[in-house]
Amino acid sequence: MKSLAELGELCRFSREEHSPNGPLSNLMKQDDSNATAPNGLNLHTSGSASVFYRVAVPSPLRRVFDYLPPKSPPELTRSLITTVNTASAQPGTRVRIPFGARKVTGIILEVVSETDVPRAKLRHADSVLDAEPLFSPELLALLRWAADYYQCPVGEVFAAALPARLRAGEGIEAAQERWHTHLAKAGKEDKSAVESLLSRSPRQLALYRLLLEQGPLLTENILLAGFGRPMLRKLQERGLAECRAEAPAARGKFDSSKPLVNPLASALILTAEQAEAVAQITARPQKFGCFLLDGVTGSGKTEVYMRAMAQQLALGRQCLVLIPEIGLTPQTIARFTQRFTCPVVALHSGLNESERLSAWARAREGSAGVIIGTRSALFTPLAVPGLIILDEEHDSSFKQQDGFRYSARDLAVMRAHAEGMPIVLGSATPSLETLQNAKAGKFVHLHLPNSTAAVPRAAMELIDIAERPLQEGFSEAALARLGQHLDNGNQCLVFINRRGYAPVLNCTTCGWSSECDDCISQMTVHRTPPRLRCHHCGVSVALPRTCPHCKSATLDTMGLGTQKAESFLQRQFPNTPIIRVDRDSTRGREGLSRALERVESGEPCILLGTQMLAKGHHFPNITLVVILEADGGLFSADFRGQEQMAQLVTQVAGRAGRAERAGEVLLQTKHAAHETLQALSNESYAQFSQRQLDQRLLASLPPFAHLALLRFDATDPAAAMGFAETAAQLSLQLSEDPRLSVEILGPMPAPMEKRAGRFRVQLQLKSERRGQLQDHLKNLIANLDQVKTPPRLRWSVDVDPQDMI
Ligand code: ADP
Ligand code: ZN
Ligand code: ZN
Repeated sequence: MKSLAELGELCRFSREEHSPNGPLSNLMKQDDSNATAPNGLNLHTSGSASVFYRVAVPSPLRRVFDYLPPKSPPELTRSLITTVNTASAQPGTRVRIPFGARKVTGIILEVVSETDVPRAKLRHADSVLDAEPLFSPELLALLRWAADYYQCPVGEVFAAALPARLRAGEGIEAAQERWHTHLAKAGKEDKSAVESLLSRSPRQLALYRLLLEQGPLLTENILLAGFGRPMLRKLQERGLAECRAEAPAARGKFDSSKPLVNPLASALILTAEQAEAVAQITARPQKFGCFLLDGVTGSGKTEVYMRAMAQQLALGRQCLVLIPEIGLTPQTIARFTQRFTCPVVALHSGLNESERLSAWARAREGSAGVIIGTRSALFTPLAVPGLIILDEEHDSSFKQQDGFRYSARDLAVMRAHAEGMPIVLGSATPSLETLQNAKAGKFVHLHLPNSTAAVPRAAMELIDIAERPLQEGFSEAALARLGQHLDNGNQCLVFINRRGYAPVLNCTTCGWSSECDDCISQMTVHRTPPRLRCHHCGVSVALPRTCPHCKSATLDTMGLGTQKAESFLQRQFPNTPIIRVDRDSTRGREGLSRALERVESGEPCILLGTQMLAKGHHFPNITLVVILEADGGLFSADFRGQEQMAQLVTQVAGRAGRAERAGEVLLQTKHAAHETLQALSNESYAQFSQRQLDQRLLASLPPFAHLALLRFDATDPAAAMGFAETAAQLSLQLSEDPRLSVEILGPMPAPMEKRAGRFRVQLQLKSERRGQLQDHLKNLIANLDQVKTPPRLRWSVDVDPQDMI
């Protein structure tokens, strides 16, 4: 491995180039001028003409690199690549370039006529890969702004924004193939024989019937309909179906002159609040506006989204729908495909790279009307951007936690602004940042205070367990209530935020406990299969039968995980199905769908699980929610602990009584008098969040101050702390200017001091002025980049960190 400094030398430095950290409109002007710059240049004399590509290169260096256009004639490395006139290459097109000893794919950010790099050191690009820019000037500017704001190497930002196949340098033409699944001859001939052949495989049968009814289907649509790839493969192996790649029919924009909304699916009469929300969001369809749709679970937010989307689709404009990772299920996607008749594409983890590229390309060319995806789908280019919906805006999965550490929510608002379109942020439990933006008048605050269900919402009841004996974590009151609801033929939900069997194994003789060697944390006991697993670093070892320290057979589990609760509940309610939902029980997309289907069937059951249950899914027959304990959040080292706990509890509680049946919510706690729990049970999330905001203002914490976190980790604790000290010193020197008000906290060990064998230290920077923090950070990092790091030390910057652990 070469050091960064050596790599930089290899690649010929150009002038350090930072886009200005001003409002986005300034950046836009800069790019307009670029677009008109390189006219009329003679390709054959490019060696002497003054044209340089300023390129974002995938590398950890926080800078751009200048290249000469390709030598003439341009090298055509792949037959798929169309001949590109390199003289008119525009910002936003990809180039293949030599970088050190490698060839890499970069993105042209600017075409300039001057460079600080000595001519002798400049290298030629090998080829320009795209005839047209992949990103609009607005999106290009936004990505550059994001690199600057999040202090991330611009090449890494573009790498995150591109599908893997484009990153690898493939032609975009590859995206044009569409894989179709047809019924094979054997599948078409004797239908009743096929029906009986598949009678024992209901999913295969359902897929067969779908193909029979609808004819050849795009593979991506089969996945959208909730069938996994294994199903498809099984039908192929039986000779009933076959897959073929086909060139697409007519391409171009989706047809907005045809009816776009399925009339059967949109017959609801809006409530007055919904109608008001729709009226506001749709009032200025081609202008930026940010709307917070603050509505309790089941209040019909999705209905509001879809009305606003229908307006944009009728105008021929596209809608981008961003949802949390866990919410992107076939059920969610189906709500949109049933409502809209225009093409809907989803960018989800079940797609392979070809399908991902295809969906991306359909968004970019405008043939898809609705694009649904998780965090990174935010960067999908849209031919005709119309509207962004970001559902469950408080969800932590919108923040990328490594590499390019961006907030998809914040960037989505920036994107809507840059491209001039409305954006809706929806949640039953808005983040304090978003609430404050609404209070400050930056976002329009829309309320849906009532559930559309006929019955009133359940109040949350606290069960004080401070002095009561528990059976495997359950209070008598909770067990009795579960029994009642099951006897009445209803479904119940039990929430524990811990997967596995039990959080600790310990020896009652010598006091040994199952601590992970590599982390400051206990290993979790798992029974199926029997192992000790560290949930922080992933290490696992066989479950010991005797104490590894004193060899006695007095090992006991402490605490409760989902597996232990499952076997306990099964003993308590032997005739009731217990459906466990956690990361272990639902590997693969079908696992979760199948578990949820059982709940949807309506039979009495106990649905037991982790926070996977808190998000997105509708369980209309659940009448009782039991939250076993959530006290951890009350005393978290993270200042967002209470906010996150309140969101989680409110979201889980929202699963109860969504249909015509009234619901009850029980929360077991050892701290029943705690202000946060009192607020949640006697008041509302809105009142809770107002108090939290008051406290944050007093403590000068986000959203009233802005944070950046520098993280350092190394196998040697002294190395991590030593380098963090250097950073703190530098930071101190740079902030001596009395006009700067940046507070430096630390360095200090991270709340989780050791993880995966590495010691972790943090340095926190805080300012009430975002701009000052930005200036300081930029300065600090430019300086820190020059300091030689000790071996095996890693450091990173997190701007607006979400997770302080
Ligand atoms: P949210 O997204 O706020 O959780 P949903 O949009 O999923 O709520 O709505 C919950 C349920 O209420 C859905 O079954 C939906 O079809 C129904 N619903 C939405 N709006 C109305 C309305 N105006 N009248 C009757 N039912 C409605
Ligand atoms: Zn022991
Ligand atoms: Zn570990």
